[in-house]
Amino acid sequence: MMAGLPVTINDIRMAEARIGTLIRRTPMLADPRLPGVRMKQEYRQETGAFKFRGATNAVLALPPEVVARGVVTASTGNHGRALARAAGAAGGRAVVCLSRLVPANKVQAVRDLGAEVRIVGRSQDEAMAEVARAVAEEGLTEVPPFDDAAVVAGQGTLGLEILVDCPAPSAVLVPLSGGGLASGVAAAVKARSPATRLIGVSMERGAAMAASLAAGRPVEVEEEPTLADSLGGGIGAGNRVTFAMCRALLDDVILVTEEEIAAAMRHIHAVTGDAVEGAAAVGHAAILSGRVSPGPDTVCILSGANVAPETFVRVLGDQTR
Ligand SMILES: *Cc1c(COP(=O)(O)O)cnc(C)c1O
Repeated sequence: MMAGLPVTINDIRMAEARIGTLIRRTPMLADPRLPGVRMKQEYRQETGAFKFRGATNAVLALPPEVVARGVVTASTGNHGRALARAAGAAGGRAVVCLSRLVPANKVQAVRDLGAEVRIVGRSQDEAMAEVARAVAEEGLTEVPPFDDAAVVAGQGTLGLEILVDCPAPSAVLVPLSGGGLASGVAAAVKARSPATRLIGVSMERGAAMAASLAAGRPVEVEEEPTLADSLGGGIGAGNRVTFAMCRALLDDVILVTEEEIAAAMRHIHAVTGDAVEGAAAVGHAAILSGRVSPGPDTVCILSGANVAPETFVRVLGDQTR
């Protein structure tokens, strides 16, 4: 099943060797209120999300002079932060193109990490057009947020780390947007534990990979505001890596509502004391809503913590509804 896919377990092991000393090994906790459910607390990663794994692997795979001239990306925030930090650590320059939908706290965080920010357009696709222009006219090098073999291999190191704490999970629930995380984690986990079910979870509002998998080819969906804003954006009409990998490796894709995401954010806050972003809570949303029944060892990837404080306060305040 995995032969011929763009990223294999060997690529992921090489990524682990390359980035192992730069990334944090994040904790895995049993959920005290949901028997069988474990929480991989990847929101404690450097820059607050797993994206630092893929960005670091991609930057270190480039020649230093290329990183010095500049790397560029379009990103809904977390990849931009990760690339800013990764490029800075390598002594290079990062340019980040963001759409107007990206929350203000995420834009400022990218600037604070030393990247040059360009706000362009109202969609991920428009931000990506600016990236193409910077590559063609300014000689910058694109590090995409998901559709890139080095990025996927970096995200896959999270899968290897899960297996250290839990060698044969019954299922892994992966937040799913462009599919870089799901592709890498699935390639790592399926290689070592073929019986593990890999389940992608997206929000009902604007789930581009779910729509594309259902259509059998990359399709566009309307971008809408959602609590899981890190899961917004398309997968790219010319998708080369993640569509094929998600099609081959995901056993199921589940969609959750805004109310279910909010309830899951409150649940995770109650059991960990931490504020995670909506995208990080979709696995719990799938379980708490009864859409997925957890087996004896079900791992939820809590993917990021970059939530605007006012958003989190509003979600907590809705508790009584
Ligand atoms: C980017 C992101 C995702 C989705 O990752 P993809 O590789 O695009 O599927 C999920 N959660 C968080 C916090 C993210 O930043």
